[in-house]
Formats: sequence, C-alpha cells, structure tokens
Amino acid sequence: MSSAKRAPHEKMQFQLTLRRRGISDQAVLRAMEEVPRENFVEEGFREDAYLDVPLPIACGQTISQPFVVAYMTEQLQLRNVHRVLEIGTGSGYQAAVLSRLVREVVTLERFRSLAKRAQARLTRLGYGNVEVLVGDGFSVPDEAGHFDRIMVTAAMESIPDDLVRLLEPEGVLIAPVGPQTGSQTLVRLRKTPDGVERTDLIGVRFVPALAGIAREM
Ligand code: SAH
Repeated sequence: MSSAKRAPHEKMQFQLTLRRRGISDQAVLRAMEEVPRENFVEEGFREDAYLDVPLPIACGQTISQPFVVAYMTEQLQLRNVHRVLEIGTGSGYQAAVLSRLVREVVTLERFRSLAKRAQARLTRLGYGNVEVLVGDGFSVPDEAGHFDRIMVTAAMESIPDDLVRLLEPEGVLIAPVGPQTGSQTLVRLRKTPDGVERTDLIGVRFVPALAGIAREM
C-alpha cells in the first residue's frame, strides 16, 4: 500500500495511542499530529514511522518513541514565548515538535553528520525557528545564552550544575537520569527563588550522553 493511503489510518492510531497513554495537552497533541515523523526516520523504517516505538538512526543513535517525545514535551510546560535548549538533536524530530510550541529552539548534537542532516531536514520542512549547533551538552558555549526550558534527550548519570545555571528564573529542565545502560528516571527540575525543586517522573531508556564532540563524522 502506498504511504499516502496508509497515512490517515496510521496517524489516527498514532493520536489515539498518545491519548490512551495519557497525553492530554491539546497543543502537544496538535504538534505531534503536524510533524511528519516519516521524514525523520531512516529510509528503511518509513513503514514504522507511526508505530509507538523508538527507531535506529545514523551513528548508532535512536529517534525516541513518540509517547516519550510527547510526554517530555508536555511535562516541560511550554509557553509560546519560551526559548528552549535541547541536548541531543539526533534526527531533529523532538526539536521540530518543540518548535511548533515555542518561540525559539536551539539544539546541540555531538555528531557533525547528524547535526548537518537534521538542520537540512528542519530547514527543508520549514521549521525556521530551530538552530542546530554542533556541540557538547556538558559544555554549552556561553554565547548560547539562557533558556526558559531545557530538554536533555540522552541519558546523564547526574544533571550538571552548568546546565541548571543556564536556566532563567522559574526555568524548567527535564532529563533522563541514571546509568548509561539499562533504564533511567525522567527527572524534572524547576529553578525557584528558594532553590531547585526536583520531581521524578517515569522510567525511560535513552542512549547515553557522551562528553565531547564525536571524532567520527
Ligand atoms: N532527540 C533526538 C533523539 C536523541 S538520541 C530525536 O528527536 O531524534 C540522543 C542524541 O544525543 C544522539 O544523537 C547523540 O549523539 C546525542 N548526544 C549524546 N551526548 C551528547 C552531548 N554530550 N552533547 C550533545 N549531544 C549528545
């Protein structure tokens, strides 16, 4: 069956799965509906683009499961004035979803080839408010400035203070925290005048965050 014929049914199922799993924010559901995931997966996996599963992308990385993308987006409590930092561009899919909901997205990727491909794809699809930078989430350049929201999409053993420092007052950061192999806990931090509040959310599985720019392409 052609992808054009498959799409409506599969996209309906995709929305139903997200709702059934508890995603209720209408703006998030709309963003998930609008961003064409088939354009972010590898050629050989187009058929599976609307299944609620993570899929392999280049450089041994993965595009996250749609439920996890929607859940993290919802838990970030976004407003359209926000400036958001993502660490771990991968395919650019999560950045595209974020870009539908906020003013500006800056996303950092340690693999040059992934960053380049993601930027080209995002530009081609018209996501003009996303900037992809080659960089290391463990040492974000000062020029990047401060952010209302930060989303980390690779597993960190702990959240670096340097990242929390990049948050504006009342800023929120969400990251998978735990060992590099196996599962992690999705942790949300909020910067308040009295300090940093931590909320542990759900169990997740992410590829590890590794320090430094990747030496391979
Ligand atoms: N958000 C992505 C999926 C993330 S997979 C998507 O929507 O497709 C995790 C990504 O984080 C990988 O591409 C990996 O190379 C990247 N990464 C790992 N450690 C990093 C670091 N220290 N800085 C920047 N990116 C990193």
